[in-house]
Amino acid sequence: MSNVLLNVNGIEVIYNHVILVLKGVSMQVPEGRIVALLGGNGAGKTTTLRAVSNLLAGERGEVTKGSIELRGERIERLSTSAMVDRGVIQVMEGRHCFAHLTIEENLLTGAYTRKDGKAAVAETLEKVYTYFPRLKTRRTSQAAYTSGGEQQMCAIGRALMANPKMVLLDEPSMGLAPQIVEEVFEIVRDLNQKERTTFLLAEQNTSMALRYADYGYILENGRVVMDGEARALRDNEDVREFYLGMG
Ligand code: ATP
Repeated sequence: MSNVLLNVNGIEVIYNHVILVLKGVSMQVPEGRIVALLGGNGAGKTTTLRAVSNLLAGERGEVTKGSIELRGERIERLSTSAMVDRGVIQVMEGRHCFAHLTIEENLLTGAYTRKDGKAAVAETLEKVYTYFPRLKTRRTSQAAYTSGGEQQMCAIGRALMANPKMVLLDEPSMGLAPQIVEEVFEIVRDLNQKERTTFLLAEQNTSMALRYADYGYILENGRVVMDGEARALRDNEDVREFYLGMG
């Protein structure tokens, strides 16, 4: 595959030294694409994202086999902050906005690692507002008093404040009304097309994810059981039956 940004090569992940959760997962994310990681509850989607962004240690998890490469560099032993420096940012499931901060303050926390000065950060903030006009109107509202959709947008916007190359999105649709999910995915597509931001997104909402992704991997019980172009997966009978409820 040309221009592979992320290459996950047969990784095994174990939690608490004993619980084997990923049993040899391999996947590639080409630069500038949207790749979906699909599968039901507990399939291992979040764990895969954590392995890439190096958030496993906080969960007492570790990669015990295989390798993860970002543009050819081995990254599975790097710290989370080293991953941020390389432009890889994870938006966690459940959004995690700071409830007592305003939307704008939340967004600005995403820029804390940047060293290119206030003017550049202000420019990115304006750009985030052009993608998320709802956040602009809510900029002075405390996050606790904004809707679930606005909080999800705030979490993505905060990730964008770090000027990422790749955003790992964990279940962006979780708990949101279908029309808001669609709005969020439209913005993801827009960011991908205009900013060339690469997205790796974990989703249980298979039909929505396959409408926006270029390529998908389906995980079951810690293994990739199927992968392919999004359109081919949408047309695949097993996927339709088991994941799209169209059997
Ligand atoms: P969900 O959509 O429910 O988050 P998922 O596909 O993202 O599902 P994971 O969260 O990666 O799945 O979980 C995969 C398995 O790993 C599950 O059996 C889960 O119980 C287990 N697991 C996840 N985190 C931990 C942890 N910190 N310690 C021990 N086991 C964990």
